Amino acid sequence: MNYRKIKGTRDILPEEFKQREFIYRKARDLFESFGFLPIITPVFEMTELFVRSIGEASDIVQKEMYTFSDRSGRSLTLRPEGTAPVVRAYLENNLKDWRNPAKLYYILPMYRYERPQKGRLREFWQIGVEVFGAPGPDVDSEIIFLMVEFFKRLGLSNFVTEINTIGCRECRPVYLKALKGYIAGHIDRFCENCRQRYLTNPLRVFDCKQESCNLLLDEAPLITDHVCDKCRMHFEGVKSYLDKLSINFTVNKRLVRGLDYYEKTTFEVKSPLLGAQSAIGGGGRYDPLIEECGGSPTHGLGFAIGVERLLLQLEEEKLLPEVKTGIDVYIVSYKGFQDKAFEIANMLRLAGFKTEFDYLGRSMKTQFRQADKLEAKIALIIAPEEDAKGAVRLRNMASGEEELVKVEDLLQKIKKKII
Ligand code: AMP
Repeated sequence: MNYRKIKGTRDILPEEFKQREFIYRKARDLFESFGFLPIITPVFEMTELFVRSIGEASDIVQKEMYTFSDRSGRSLTLRPEGTAPVVRAYLENNLKDWRNPAKLYYILPMYRYERPQKGRLREFWQIGVEVFGAPGPDVDSEIIFLMVEFFKRLGLSNFVTEINTIGCRECRPVYLKALKGYIAGHIDRFCENCRQRYLTNPLRVFDCKQESCNLLLDEAPLITDHVCDKCRMHFEGVKSYLDKLSINFTVNKRLVRGLDYYEKTTFEVKSPLLGAQSAIGGGGRYDPLIEECGGSPTHGLGFAIGVERLLLQLEEEKLLPEVKTGIDVYIVSYKGFQDKAFEIANMLRLAGFKTEFDYLGRSMKTQFRQADKLEAKIALIIAPEEDAKGAVRLRNMASGEEELVKVEDLLQKIKKKII
């Protein structure tokens, strides 16, 4: 073989495609009953959109974007996340006039140049929602509820919901000063990465996976304890709504998330079954982002769920939906009756029955084997004797029972047998 797929990408084969469809349908049904409508944005956007919104110092912008110049020399980037493009689309299409608040969801592939491992890919899919124009903590809790409810509807039980507040433009700078002061006091003992974060994006030290940094951070000031009254009240509101909605959650004061645009609420659903890449989904409030992208001040919040991680989680919990790829009818025909097989196949297909027949001139025995392989419910046998009477034979593949059926009665008969 001369070609292989690019590292970190996957082929989605029919069975998995069907499993995904099942998941997407559940998401659509649930999200639409919460008032969300679907959106698709282009797979690439101006690079600037992501740099400005996700943040110059974020891991995504620093080292993970698929950026290229097109033939006219513009810098474009494959969508690494869904929020910035949806914000761009919201502004560009004046969706504020369409609905306020506007609630949108997407199911789209994302691209990040990360080191591939289990649950971490370079092309992966996200199911996400965004809400524009809703200021109150009730909506923060509504989308947390929505994510948790989605997982519950898929049958999942082995996950935890963590929430935090990371303050706003007013209180965070004050806190960051305190944090930087703390880090500076121990700078020699932090890893190289954290020293870099100290300079560019100090909050991100809380994302460090190194045990030694983690221990050092045990004594560090935490944003949750240093937010302003407005942010604190908002957070109290989110928690009390979650209680009312009977959502189990824990406050993780170290949950900061990697994208710059968040403020106030952040949240993540994690699974103990997924190893290092434990986050199945996450999100938060990003009020400053819409203005940052050139719009008038508008509240925004949302979440994204990783589809591949969700599939892994479903597999771990033995909940992957059983998908049916079997057919209804396989036509087995004698030599010389291919045209008849073609004609009947067409009639059945157009009536909605999944039908196959032999294109290769194979023996009757091989055709029956093929019927088994394709998990046909019925074998439809075309043979000279029956054909002379304008009939075919139907064999129930499970019981072996056979019946002679006139061609004009076929659709009725098959319908009865299949249901
Ligand atoms: P983020 O946009 O980074 O907040 O990620 C939201 C969700 O997308 C995560 O909780 C993961 O489930 C999923 N995700 C993020 N990055 C990757 C990746 N490289 N491969 C697979 N899934 C990912």
